[in-house]
Parts: sequence; C-alpha cells; structure tokens
Amino acid sequence: MYDVIVVGARVAGSSTAMLLARRGLKVLAVDRARFPSDTLSTHQVQVPGAARLRRWGLLERVEAAGTPATRRVRFDPGPVVLEGHFPEVDGVGSLYSPRRTILDALLVDAAREAGAEVREGFTVEEILFDGDRVVGVRGRERGGQPARETARLVIGADGRHSAVARAVRAPAYHVQPPRSIAYYTYWSGVPMRGGEIYGRERRLIGAWPTNDGLVVTYVAAPRDEFGAFRADPEGSLLRSLDAAGDLGERVRAGERAERVFGSAELHNRFHRPFGPGWALVGDAGLLLDPVTGQGIADAFRDAELLAEAVATGLDGGPRLDIALDGYRARRDAASLPMYELTLDLASFAPPRPEQRLLFEALEGRPAEVDRFLGVLGGVVPIREYFGPRNLLRLLGPRRMLKAALAGRRMAG
Ligand SMILES: Cc1cc2nc3c(=O)[nH]c(=O)nc-3n(C[C@H](O)[C@H](O)[C@H](O)COP(=O)(O)OP(=O)(O)OC[C@H]3O[C@@H](n4cnc5c(N)ncnc54)[C@H](O)[C@@H]3O)c2cc1C
Repeated sequence: MYDVIVVGARVAGSSTAMLLARRGLKVLAVDRARFPSDTLSTHQVQVPGAARLRRWGLLERVEAAGTPATRRVRFDPGPVVLEGHFPEVDGVGSLYSPRRTILDALLVDAAREAGAEVREGFTVEEILFDGDRVVGVRGRERGGQPARETARLVIGADGRHSAVARAVRAPAYHVQPPRSIAYYTYWSGVPMRGGEIYGRERRLIGAWPTNDGLVVTYVAAPRDEFGAFRADPEGSLLRSLDAAGDLGERVRAGERAERVFGSAELHNRFHRPFGPGWALVGDAGLLLDPVTGQGIADAFRDAELLAEAVATGLDGGPRLDIALDGYRARRDAASLPMYELTLDLASFAPPRPEQRLLFEALEGRPAEVDRFLGVLGGVVPIREYFGPRNLLRLLGPRRMLKAALAGRRMAG
C-alpha cells in the first residue's frame, strides 16, 4: 500500500509526487504517456513558476536544456506600445518556454530521484472505492495484465478530462463556457528581442523564444471563428500575425518548423479539489483559458500547497480533511483574480476607455510598465493593482475622474 497514488505525471502530477516523496512519503505516480512526450501547450512558465523551479533545484536543468530566459517583453494592446521587464520573484526575473518534451520529462526524473515510483505507459481504468472513500486504482501497462494498487490518498493530476474528478463526481463551480480558440506553431530564423504580446481586433497574439532557436507564435480568437481556422489553420494564423506589428513579416522571412496545432476545447471551471480519499491538482482541479498562460505556474503552486496539506494532515480522518480544505481555500483565493482577468481578456473586447487611460498613464514610466507586466505574468496581485488607491496613484486625480466617468470597472 502506498501513502499516495498520483494519476498523471506531467507538470501537476510529477511536481506533486516529487514534493511528497521529498517529505518521505511512499508515492506511486502513473501516466499513460511515456516520456519525453509532447502535449497541447505553448508552455510559457510564468516568473512565479520559474521561481518555484529554482527553489526545487530544477531551473538550472531547464536552462541546461537550452531553454532561453525571456526577460524583456513588448506589450502592444493597440493604443500604445509598452516595453519592459517582468518584476522578479525570489531573484528570478525571467519567463521560460521549455518544450513540454523537456519540462515534463525533467519533472518525471526529479520525482524518481526524490524516491517516488513512476510507472510510464500505465493507464488507470478504474478508481477503487470502499463505500464513498477512494482507496486505490486499477489499471494496466500497455498490453499488460490488470494491476490493483491501493493508497491512503489518490490524487488526480490527470488533466482536463480527469477520470478521477469524474469518478468522485467532484462538484464544479465558477463554470464559464469556452470563449476562445487557440492556434500555434513554431518558426526558425525569426529575430526576437524578448517576448511579444499583442491585442488586436478579435485577436490576442503572443510570440516567445523556445528551445532549439525556435519561436512559438500563439493566436487566440473568438470561438465563432473555429470553422475558419480549422479550414485554413496556417493562413488564419499568418493573417493574425500580420496584424501584430512586423511579426508577420518576421515569421514569413523565417521558416515554419512544425505543423500548426489548435484547440477549441478551452473550458473554464474550478473543481472542488478534495473528498474522502481523493484530491485534485492541476487542470483536473482548475481549468482556465490558456490565453494568459497560467496553467503550468498554477500547477506548480498547487502542487506545493497540496503537498504541504497532505504532509500536515497525513494521519487521515478529520485532520487531513481540514488540511485539504485549507488547500482548497488557498488555491481558490490565489486563482480567482487571474481567472476573472483571463475571462475578461478572452472576451476579445477592444480596450475600454478606462483601460486606454491606464495604458496612456503608463507610457514613459518604465518602473510602472514593469509592474503592469507583472500583473499579466501573475507576479503583481491583481486586486491590489486595480484597487482605487493604486489607480489614483497611477492616473492622478484628473484621469481618475475621467476613468470613473467612463463608468466601468478596470478589470475582471
Ligand atoms: C493550446 C494551449 C496552450 C497552453 N499554453 C500554456 C502556456 O503557455 N503556459 C501555461 O502555463 N499553460 C498553458 N496551457 C495550459 C497547460 O498546458 C495546462 O494547464 C497544463 O498542461 C496542466 O498540467 P496537468 O499536469 O494538470 O495536466 P496535463 O498536462 O494534461 O497532464 C495530465 C496527464 O495525465 C495523464 N492521464 C490522463 N488520464 C490518465 C489515466 N486514466 N491514466 C493514466 N494517465 C492519465 C495524461 O496522459 C497526461 O500526461 C495551455 C493549454 C492549451 C490547451
């Protein structure tokens, strides 16, 4: 019997397994994939996520794999162009975009090194119950015999179609229908000075340096354009990049290095992340439109919160429930402001008058531009930033009055 079985071994699962094993727990992590393995993702690890990797002793490995550190960012929402740097977290000031073939494999290795048993190519087919309590899993390796494994706690880190969340009927809340579609691909020979983010009519566009000298370009569009993108993925993507400064020209002068990837299944919801004998982490527990690129850093944060809760409450019974409810509360409080901001961005509305006033107020103020970039990157607390005190400081009384007369909220 294990202390913990983790279903899914990518960014959420392997991190959780590693952290629990480092605390001395007997951990089994399983994944139907074999690593290195790719997955649908443009893989920006925001600064807080990179800081966690540093703390876990893994950022050096991401860098050693040739992943460029991105410090400089251009944010071009249309009315102005703001260029700056992400604020630092614990001495880390860069965003990284490691290919998931690199990042996920590196985390699997780290989980093993910490003492967790990791079974690759193992599919969980059934969650085992004793009454209403989860007690283990049944699954098998490809072509192998069925195996039953039991544990005091089963953690679902099995992504957006989580079988664990389905089996335990985890209640969903803050549910919002999908708003956007995402299309992306990779290019060689594209000069970049850092990361780039553009807001254009019905488009949000990003470009980030990744491994092997490639650049990943990402286009988010409203869901009603799915048919057009599916009919002509490359043409739709290129036409969108053409609207983003000279980005279209630069990628056309380079070479497309991979096929175009796309998804319209971008759901938004929280799941209650614990119950008798089970817990959820990563996309299994909290799914957010990827337009703000928060999923990986959130998974790292929640792996830490969950591992701490499990270690504290390990005796089982009421203590574990209280600790896991604390995990739920901390996760939700940390996620909700970005969840609201992300859904607002995924509505693809042009900048509102009060947002234009803010952008204008930031121009020519490098420290303030950096702080604003920190909002987008999950470094600067959103509610504090858009609170009246900070807005008054940024806008001054005259612009603040104008913004108030515009009669709308600044975010969310
Ligand atoms: C188009 C797109 C772009 C994105 N871009 C970014 C970005 O730039 N930055 C960012 O931070 N986030 C991004 N995200 C979100 C990010 O990819 C996810 O938040 C992240 O992958 C979630 O990690 P996870 O470990 O929870 O789940 P996953 O990465 O989905 O891993 C789940 C694992 O569980 C395994 N599994 C599932 N069921 C079973 C089973 N029954 N038995 C065994 N194994 C099982 C799967 O094989 C899989 O390996 C993007 C998402 C999309 C769709």
